[in-house]
Amino acid sequence: MAAMGIGGVEIASDLAEARQARISVAAALRGAVALAADLLFPPVCISCRKRAGAHGLLCGDCWPKIDFITPPLCAKLGLPLPYDTGEPSLSAAAMAEPPVYDRGRAAARYSSTMRELIQRFKYGDRHEGVALFRRWMAAAGAELLTGADVIVPVPLYRSRLWSRRFNQSAILAQAVSRLTRVPIRLLSACPRQAHAEPGRADRGATGKECRRRVPGHSPA
Ligand SMILES: [Zn+2]
Repeated sequence: MAAMGIGGVEIASDLAEARQARISVAAALRGAVALAADLLFPPVCISCRKRAGAHGLLCGDCWPKIDFITPPLCAKLGLPLPYDTGEPSLSAAAMAEPPVYDRGRAAARYSSTMRELIQRFKYGDRHEGVALFRRWMAAAGAELLTGADVIVPVPLYRSRLWSRRFNQSAILAQAVSRLTRVPIRLLSACPRQAHAEPGRADRGATGKECRRRVPGHSPA
């Protein structure tokens, strides 16, 4: 039994060494491929296209132009507040016109470089910023994502999906889902006339109809 035990350890050791060697070779190959790709397609800033340290990043000139939204924030709208009261506070806008949702958060103001990046992504089919966007969104929405059951991207009408070729909301939602492990659920868009019918303006009723059309989903 002892001999078998020693032999088993030797075999296990050989297998571990062989596995380690395969991992080392695979890592070396990946590094070589990445180096070749960088030589062929050097990493550039996703905004100004100047050389950057890695793919999918902003250069040192463009990074400061992103106007990130940071606390203290309006508890509902996520708008920046002038000072921190030490407890959840509402902005004047949220008090004057309360939103239909409980909490909303945004990563940055839609201005300058951020506006250019979003417009290129949304209308120019440029997806190289998605990896960066998902990190910004996950950070800005951390308190919403903690304990969240599901991420639901805003659906697009078929006509708009046809013209835009993709739903940018779904792409971002999938990216954030992969990063945060919060599952994603895709819903179909409501027909435009459902919103326009007299007496059917209630968003809840319309949402139920939409959800009913999703296979395997029963309205609450
Ligand atoms: Zn740049």
